[in-house]
Amino acid sequence: MNKIKPLLFFTVFAFFVANCAQKSFAQSTPLSKATAINDHQQPFIIRAEQDKEALEKLTALQKKTGKKPNIIWFVVDDMGFGDPGCFGGGAAIGAATPYIDKLAKEGMKLTSTYSQPTCTPTRSALLTGRLPCRTGLTRPILAGDVLTQNPWSDEISLPKILSEAGYKTVLSGKWHIGEQEGMRPSEIGFDEWLGWYAAEKEISQSFDKRRYPDLVLDTFKLNAYNKLDAGRDLMFGKKGEKITVQKVTTSTDDMAEADQTIKAYSLRKIKEYAKSGQPFFLGHTFMKVHADNFASKAFEGKSDSKYPYKDGIVEVDAIIGEIVAELEKQGLLENTFIFITSDNGPQEDSWPDAGYTPFRGGKATAWEGGVRVPGIAYWKGMINPGRESAELFDLMDLFNTSLIIAGVPEKIPADRYIDGIDQTSFLITSNGLSKRDRVHIWVEKKFMAIRMFEYKMHFQYTNSVADMMNIDYSSTGQVGLAPWLFNLYIDPKERMPVGHRMNAWTAVIAAEVKGHLATFKKYQMKNIGLDK
Ligand code: CA
Repeated sequence: MNKIKPLLFFTVFAFFVANCAQKSFAQSTPLSKATAINDHQQPFIIRAEQDKEALEKLTALQKKTGKKPNIIWFVVDDMGFGDPGCFGGGAAIGAATPYIDKLAKEGMKLTSTYSQPTCTPTRSALLTGRLPCRTGLTRPILAGDVLTQNPWSDEISLPKILSEAGYKTVLSGKWHIGEQEGMRPSEIGFDEWLGWYAAEKEISQSFDKRRYPDLVLDTFKLNAYNKLDAGRDLMFGKKGEKITVQKVTTSTDDMAEADQTIKAYSLRKIKEYAKSGQPFFLGHTFMKVHADNFASKAFEGKSDSKYPYKDGIVEVDAIIGEIVAELEKQGLLENTFIFITSDNGPQEDSWPDAGYTPFRGGKATAWEGGVRVPGIAYWKGMINPGRESAELFDLMDLFNTSLIIAGVPEKIPADRYIDGIDQTSFLITSNGLSKRDRVHIWVEKKFMAIRMFEYKMHFQYTNSVADMMNIDYSSTGQVGLAPWLFNLYIDPKERMPVGHRMNAWTAVIAAEVKGHLATFKKYQMKNIGLDK
C-alpha cells in the first residue's frame, strides 16, 4: 500500500492539471459552456467538484483493492440504437436482451452516446481519442485497399499507454484498423490478440455462394479476389512475436461460430489475469451483428424473430452476460469498469439483416441514425444503479476516461489534438454531469454537423437516393443559404428544420463551429490513402 501513496499523490496533481487549469484559447460564443484549457484539447465544461469526488472514489477503491481497475469495452458491430430492450427494442422487436438490460438497470444508461458513422473511424477514434479525419482512418478499410502510410506510425494508442502503465492489454475479436505490417493490434500496443482483421461480410463474400454467386462460382474472379488478401482468417498475435493464422476461415459455418471463438478467448484471458492479479484492458469487439449474419448452432432460432440478425443480437447479449458472470465468479466485478456500445448505427442497406434505430438514417450518415448508439456504463459499487442521462457522451471520451481510471492522466498526449474528454466524474459520481457540451460529426473529411444542447445543425447532409440505401445509393449534399437546424427534443427524426424562423441560435451555433475547424490549421489532417 505504501508504494501506492506517492503514485496517488502524483495522480491527484496531474489530474487537476489536466482538468482544472483555466485559460481561454478557442473561439466561443455566449452559448458555449466549455472552456479551452489549451490549444490541443477539445474544450470541456469544467466540473471541479465532481472531478474531486470522482478522484476520491477512485482513490478509495485503489486503497481497498491495492490494484488498478480493469477496463472492458464491449463493442458490438453495427448494432442499432433501438436494438437493446433497455433502449426500446428487445423483445418488442423480436430479440430479447435480458443481460444488457440488467447491466443498464444496475449501471448507467447513456441515451446521447455518439459514435463515428462507420466501423474503422469509430474503432480508431476509441483507441486514439482523436477524430478519424486527424488520423486518416476516415472510412472502413475494404478488401483491396492499400494504405499509402501507416496511420499508426505516429499515433499513440490507448493499449500502448496502458501497457506502459502496467496493464495487460488484449484485443478479442474484430480489428479493422489496418492489417498491413505495422498496423496490427500487437504491433500498435496490444500485448495479445485473437480475431479477424476484416468485417464479417468482407470475409464471407469469398465463400457464400448464395449471396455472392457472381464471385464464388466464377473461378477467375474468385482467384482475383483471393489475391487481395482480404484477411479472412482467424489470427493470433503477441507483442514482439510473429502474427500467425490460428484457423483458416472457409465457410459461413466458421463465421457463424466466430463470436463463440472470441468469447472463449476473452474468458480464458480473464481467468488468467484473475490468477496473476495483473490489471487488464480488454477490448471485446464482436464480429456480430455486422452483415452478413449467420446464426451460430447454439443460437439459431433462439430469437422470437428467427431472423439471423436477431439471433445474433440474442447471442451477443448472452455472451456479454457470460463474460460478466465470469468476472463476478473471479471476484473482479467491483474492480472492473465496463462499457457496452455499438461502433455505428444500423447498416440499413443490408436490411433485413440490419439493426433498428428510431432515428433518421443509418450507418454512414451524419443523421442521428448513423451516429447515435446505445451506451451503457457499468461498474459495481462505483456507478450507482439505475442512473440514466441524456447528456452528451462521445465514444472518443472513453480514451481519456480510461486513462483517468488507470491513474495516468499525465499520459494523455499533449503533442497532438485530442478530441476526447475525460468523463470519469460524469459516470461514477452520484449526480455527475457530462463535461461535453457538443459533438462534432464528420463523414470522412467532410464536416457534416454539430450537436449542442437539443440542437443539431447540419452543414452538409447524406441524401439516400432510395429509402435505407445510405451507403450504396447515396450522395452528400450542401445545405443552402442557412444551415439545417433541428430540435431533437421535438423532432428526434430530423424531419423538419426549425431554422431561424423559430430558433434564436442559428448564427450562434454556426459560429461555434469556427473554433473547431480552426484546430485543423495547427493540427493538420493526415492522408493515408483512404481519401476518395
Ligand atoms: Ca460497424
